[in-house]
Amino acid sequence: MKKTYESPMITPLHSGLMNKFGTRRNFEPMTHIDGVAVKDLLATFGSPLFAFSERSIRETYRDAVRAFTTRYPKVQFAWSYKTNYLNAICQVFHSEGAWGEVVSGMEYQKALQNGVPPSRIIFNGPDKTNDELRMAVENQSPIHIDHLDELYRLIEIARALGKRPQVAIRVNMDTGVYPIWDRFGFNYENGSAWDAINKIILTDTLDLMGLHCHIGTFMLSTNAYAIATAKMCELARSLQAKHGKKIAYIDMGGGFASKNTLKGSYMPGADTSPSFDDYAEAICTAMLNAGFEADALPLLVLETGRALIDEAGYLLGSVLANKRLSDGRRATILDFGVNVLFTAFWYDHDVYPAQAFGAHAEESVVYGPLCMNIDVIRDNVSLPPLQAGEQLVVCRVGAYNITQSMQFISMRPAVVLIDEQGKPHLIKKRETLQTIEMDEAMPSYLMPKPN
Ligand SMILES: *Cc1c(COP(=O)(O)O)cnc(C)c1O
Repeated sequence: MKKTYESPMITPLHSGLMNKFGTRRNFEPMTHIDGVAVKDLLATFGSPLFAFSERSIRETYRDAVRAFTTRYPKVQFAWSYKTNYLNAICQVFHSEGAWGEVVSGMEYQKALQNGVPPSRIIFNGPDKTNDELRMAVENQSPIHIDHLDELYRLIEIARALGKRPQVAIRVNMDTGVYPIWDRFGFNYENGSAWDAINKIILTDTLDLMGLHCHIGTFMLSTNAYAIATAKMCELARSLQAKHGKKIAYIDMGGGFASKNTLKGSYMPGADTSPSFDDYAEAICTAMLNAGFEADALPLLVLETGRALIDEAGYLLGSVLANKRLSDGRRATILDFGVNVLFTAFWYDHDVYPAQAFGAHAEESVVYGPLCMNIDVIRDNVSLPPLQAGEQLVVCRVGAYNITQSMQFISMRPAVVLIDEQGKPHLIKKRETLQTIEMDEAMPSYLMPKPN
């Protein structure tokens, strides 16, 4: 086929962190996702559109499980609902054997409705109402206590119900990564964690089954996990020595980095983020060397969210327009904004054109459609010219964007799941004016008059 003529052009080279070839790494368009054409997906389901690859979710999950189970005999993953609680996504994780990890009553209900046995729903977070605690106690779900007020409430509830709830405490600690996430749980170094343990054991109403921590998110240091695990094991061993209580599980939480590139990083995340093997090596080595007897090794629970789902999610969209900014830079305006791509604030997401392009590329600013200056998808990315109506794909958007998306100005996109046979399934409809207004009410005196 004869190539279309492209006129030559002169583009200034912006000096900066990168070399004179700029920062462009993507020389191929992304025309298909798991064998499905991007243009077909957008034609069928509308633009913009979130697409998830079921194959990628399962591959990533199995890779994580393999990394831990080849290093430690007793491992259980629990899917972090808040990372992405679309029911179809949760079901893929549950079908792989993941428990549920929830941080609110709403998420707890969702996990129940998804058929997760209540004893496999870990109830985390600082916000549990008495009714929610009662429900979790009746259901015998593991409750992870965040603060003393919750501890006292739970003791009162347990006594009123005549039950002995299974609990863990959340522990925070100095792992060498700052600032310390010390607003959740009980501190290790200052003795608060011991205080909580003593109170639970000596009031003898709750069954202390486990110890929990979640030291941060997008943690690039595997050593932080080695330190955290050693401290958790030390607590568990002291608990056994002092109170004769063997802990059933140690829950190391989540926080593993995905392969996204943090803003300001010199190297792409795909080259710098630790692998599941790296995290597993740090955590499992510390567990195995902590001195537990072979028959008393605690179950290792992991609640990693971001690292399991980021890769599988794509945001597909279309170019609305191009313009020149006052300094001459090219600006490309897309049909989705930061209200549905919240992670654009801290990642330099990879952006691929979805159709073939030529050899030219230009430093561009990529904007969303919102009437707000902060609606920037990429503040500086080298892209080939994209015409209005052409399509593109943003990669690694699976974590947090759906759950943190904000209804603003336009409809939030539909979501599809591409199954392992390459068939797309609608798992969430695009918003409509009706769904947006569903919960509104109009005082009768403000009712619009028929015209
Ligand atoms: C958010 C959260 C997770 C998941 O965190 P990621 O950084 O996405 O891995 C796990 N456990 C708890 C308690 C959380 O709050």
